[in-house]
Amino acid sequence: MSRVAVVTGGGSGMGLEICRQLAARGNKVAIFDLSEDNAAAAAADIAQSGAAALAVAVDVADRAAVDGGIAKVRAGFGPVEIMVTSAGLDAFSTFTDITAEQWERMLAVNLTGTFNCLQAAIPDMVAAGWGRIVTISSSSAQSGAKRMAHYVASKGGVLGLTKALALEYAPNGITVNTIPPGFIDTPMIRRAQDKGDVPGVDTIAKATPVRRAGTPADIAAACVFLCSEEAGYITGQAINVNGGWYL
Ligand code: NAD
Repeated sequence: MSRVAVVTGGGSGMGLEICRQLAARGNKVAIFDLSEDNAAAAAADIAQSGAAALAVAVDVADRAAVDGGIAKVRAGFGPVEIMVTSAGLDAFSTFTDITAEQWERMLAVNLTGTFNCLQAAIPDMVAAGWGRIVTISSSSAQSGAKRMAHYVASKGGVLGLTKALALEYAPNGITVNTIPPGFIDTPMIRRAQDKGDVPGVDTIAKATPVRRAGTPADIAAACVFLCSEEAGYITGQAINVNGGWYL
């Protein structure tokens, strides 16, 4: 069925692949991204396949910009029915070196950004009596991770927000689930590797039970299922896509 979907962080990595896969199933896809260029490139790529795509340059931490973006989606495509929140920042720092500004920006993008987008879109889903929400959290919020206290705290907040909204909106036909990815080979991870913040893909692959790093397609496959009609009895769940790590 053709639905109206918004994917934040849709200009790169797993968000981009989620956009492609949602579009391939006939959904109209709005790509929210801080990078105007990446959002436009993603929309052009999807439009080439004949699907409807809309690029929206937006900082998810900016509530007014998010509201403006959602208004553009309603005007172009109609009410929002599916929302996937993949926009995110990572950072690595010893706990005592994290500045107040770094802490606040991390929370603002990863947690408040998720809040902003979901609060702006949920009224459409309530009015329709149907909705699908998938947040992208992180396996690090389940296991902990050194030098990532601010990141892990923000993603732990996303996990909790997901569970709270699942219960609150279950009677409205809206499912709310989270995917906590393990190690997924995306531009974010490549940047962290280049700076020496995470081990190389080969090292990670050897330590992963399935013996490879994850791909954006691995995340997109789970995500499009959670967004489907058939997934209506799954809500409030963390669907681990992590190559077999026991968390
Ligand atoms: P990525 O950097 O390739 O993509 C993230 C996208 O989010 C980028 O296009 C970026 O421009 C956008 N973005 C960043 N800040 C934004 C903001 N303020 N407003 C709007 N857009 C913004 O990274 P990715 O690996 O695809 O990560 C996607 C999500 O998955 C992130 O939330 C990340 O924290 C999470 N995650 C990634 C991994 C991994 O191994 N790659 C593991 C666990 C969780």
